[in-house]
Amino acid sequence: MHKRSILARAAEMEVSVGIDTATTTVVDNEQRLRDVLDSIFDAVVVTCIRGIIQDFNRAAEILFGYEKSEVLGKNVAILMPRSLAKQHDQFMQNPLQAANAKVLGRLRELEGAHKNGELFPITIGLNCTTWEGIPRYIASIRDISDRRKAENTIQTLSLYDANTNLPNRLNFMKLMQHQLQYSDVSVMAVNMDFFNRINVAVSESEGEQVLRVLAARISEFATEFNGVVAKDIEDRFWIGMEVSTNETLDFDARQMRRLLAMLREEIVVNSRHYLLTASVGVARGRKGANSSEVVTHAETAVHQAKMRGRDQFSVYREVMTEQVVQEFELEQQLRRALQKNQFECWLQSKVDSNGKVVSAEALVRWRLQEKVIAPDVFIPLAERLGIINDIGWVVARKVAQVICALQPDNWHLNIAMNVSPRQFMHENFTATLQAIFLEENANLQQLTIEITENLLIHDIIKVKAVMDELSQLGVRFSVDDFGTGYSNLKRLQWIPVTEVKIDRQFVVAGMQGERGKALLDTIIMMGQSLGMHTVAEGIETAAQFTYLQSKGVDQFQGYYLHRPEPMRTWLQSIL
Ligand code: C2E
Ligand code: CA
Ligand code: CA
Repeated sequence: MHKRSILARAAEMEVSVGIDTATTTVVDNEQRLRDVLDSIFDAVVVTCIRGIIQDFNRAAEILFGYEKSEVLGKNVAILMPRSLAKQHDQFMQNPLQAANAKVLGRLRELEGAHKNGELFPITIGLNCTTWEGIPRYIASIRDISDRRKAENTIQTLSLYDANTNLPNRLNFMKLMQHQLQYSDVSVMAVNMDFFNRINVAVSESEGEQVLRVLAARISEFATEFNGVVAKDIEDRFWIGMEVSTNETLDFDARQMRRLLAMLREEIVVNSRHYLLTASVGVARGRKGANSSEVVTHAETAVHQAKMRGRDQFSVYREVMTEQVVQEFELEQQLRRALQKNQFECWLQSKVDSNGKVVSAEALVRWRLQEKVIAPDVFIPLAERLGIINDIGWVVARKVAQVICALQPDNWHLNIAMNVSPRQFMHENFTATLQAIFLEENANLQQLTIEITENLLIHDIIKVKAVMDELSQLGVRFSVDDFGTGYSNLKRLQWIPVTEVKIDRQFVVAGMQGERGKALLDTIIMMGQSLGMHTVAEGIETAAQFTYLQSKGVDQFQGYYLHRPEPMRTWLQSIL
């Protein structure tokens, strides 16, 4: 109501200005002052030092709903909520105290009371002035309802998730921090598995509806324990509950199983049926703990649950943080190693049945100060982080340099390079490889790419297309660790692979009893009957070498024959 336009209200009001022809300039001045006062947008209320209203401009009439005539001579307390009015009255008992009050000359935010009893937020600035020797208070007042509303909206937006109306992460942290002052808490991070597919396959709005159903389910689960439920970004939820110190972690585990089962139940939205799963991480926070730490622990645990294959829960343990810290340090070192050119290419010769070097395998090494680090330590992490592509290209360039150095006398020597599935599936794999070999003036026909059977789980049509393309350029393919992975023999025959590398574990097993020997024989026979060139790796003894020779294996690799050597040393031994 007090929002109505001041100008409109002013037009309605009867403006009676009686002008005496014999008026003096005093009247003129007073009229001018009146006009000025009435045209101000802020409400202006003038009182004596006892708080009796002496003037009330138009904006004040509109704001408080009183006619000026109704308030003149009344205590200004009628414009205040009751609680404030009482305080004000007491204050005004002592005019001296009032005059020196700190409220003078400052803007304050208070509540005003409308004639109809409605309270509304205002800012008020109070000044004291003296007219004709009498001190008076002049208050200028502004309605700040709109600003408050906007502030409240911002507050809501910053503390609640707009889709589910649940507290958001920030709010959850605050709530947990509060709870942790009084008790132990159990915090659960709930992440839906592969949820984004609903957004992509159906629509984002459908995804939001499903999330609302999940929010309701999780809330239902949590109410039993007086738990707090919150919604983080994407498909992540939080549950926080007070627990007594004697409740064991078994309790958490039991609850997690129940929660996972609830989330697995079918969801129907717009006649579409969804079967979903979630991964959950749970962490305990002791009374007095920091909520952000507990939340981070729960996140670490949920990460574990996801790594283990999802649709399960994981309870936080300290070693999880240690692993993350170690992995993070290693990751940072790896990225720096790329910048500092710390990756080297070593070569391990392969020989034919006469012991003559016919090829070599390029093996990456990481030189960190004096240490040479083997790939087993960093390749799996590099693969997970995608750094493997950059490392792979460093190796590819070095392999091209080796091949270039071998020409023209040793053009028959073939160099094998390990390529991880991730790098192989990368866009432009062929083009990049070709460019590197062209730049280094190396012949692609001297290159063998060692792939693992795991590559064949990927989009086999694309894998075959890339392989065909490279075969056309003269590149050969070998299946590494043959027999250890996913062996789809049909797929093997369909792609242009010409060689299998019999894994070290079969070579070792072959010397350990009849069953091991039968296994090794079978693997060799399998490779041979597929029409593949066979290479045995990890040969450490003369006995292994002799046995494999007798089985008609084509090439041999292992410490017994040649150890991996730095690129320069290896080239010197060949040239
Ligand atoms: P892999 O491809 O099976 O390579 C053979 C591994 O066996 C090499 O280990 C080699 O040094 C080792 N080896 C060779 N002969 C013997 C032996 O007689 N006895 C024993 N115990 N081991 C032997 P390395 O160099 O540590 O490489 C380990 C794995 O790291 C490789 O296994 C390969 O999967 C990966 N890797 C190496 N270099 C690269 C690379 O440039 N790119 C990619 N993506 N992976 C690589
Ligand atoms: Ca290999
Ligand atoms: Ca191997």
